[in-house]
Amino acid sequence: MNDLSARLQAIRDRMTAAAQRCGRDPAAIELLAVSKTFPVEAIREAVDAGQLLFGENKVQEILGKAPQLPANLQWHLIGHLQSNKVRKVLPQVKAIHSIGSLDLARDVDRIAAELGLFPQVYLEVNLGDESSKHGFSAEQVRASLEALYALKRLEIQGLMCIPPFDDDAEKSRSYFVQLRALRDELEQRGGEPLPRLSMGMSHDFEIAIEEGATIVRVGSAIFGGRTYATAA
Ligand SMILES: *Cc1c(COP(=O)(O)O)cnc(C)c1O
Repeated sequence: MNDLSARLQAIRDRMTAAAQRCGRDPAAIELLAVSKTFPVEAIREAVDAGQLLFGENKVQEILGKAPQLPANLQWHLIGHLQSNKVRKVLPQVKAIHSIGSLDLARDVDRIAAELGLFPQVYLEVNLGDESSKHGFSAEQVRASLEALYALKRLEIQGLMCIPPFDDDAEKSRSYFVQLRALRDELEQRGGEPLPRLSMGMSHDFEIAIEEGATIVRVGSAIFGGRTYATAA
């Protein structure tokens, strides 16, 4: 086994163990391999090791990489999306984790209709992290729920969050708990299921699984450290 496939297997094993520790079905939790800044060769190694689900945070990187790789891969956009890039990225992605405003949701819905698509989306919620500019506040997502459900092209999966980074991964736990509680509240309010929670990264994905994550977004623990200067 090469290093990358060994690291990938180690993550899968840790995901399974975390699920079993808290009595969850490991098969109900997906691994999104976050390949941002890494070249297609690294992604090919992951594909050879059985990984088909990849996340990127920039539209340009998805558009550059996806055509060079097998068509059966699933791409998820996890980073900030500008309205003027929606049309380009929609045909290439299965899911968008970073729907952070009603305006963006409306743009995605309208363009998806024009393109004949039904994208899966997650509502990104900013749970009081001052350093992040992106995402709905909890209050905004409550207030927007009805309008979001009216957007019939969007397959709303659930919620996503990015807790502020802290060396102590336990610090993420309260954010994950809040996201799940908000999801439960919105399901009650809106009467529609929001089955999925996108939460957990390299340093805190096991805690996210303990708190209900259905998809964890893991980059550096699979692909290694990122050097942004040489990205793309
Ligand atoms: C980069 C990124 C990740 C993965 O981060 P790692 O710490 O490398 O696992 C997850 N989610 C988002 C939104 C990211 O931008």
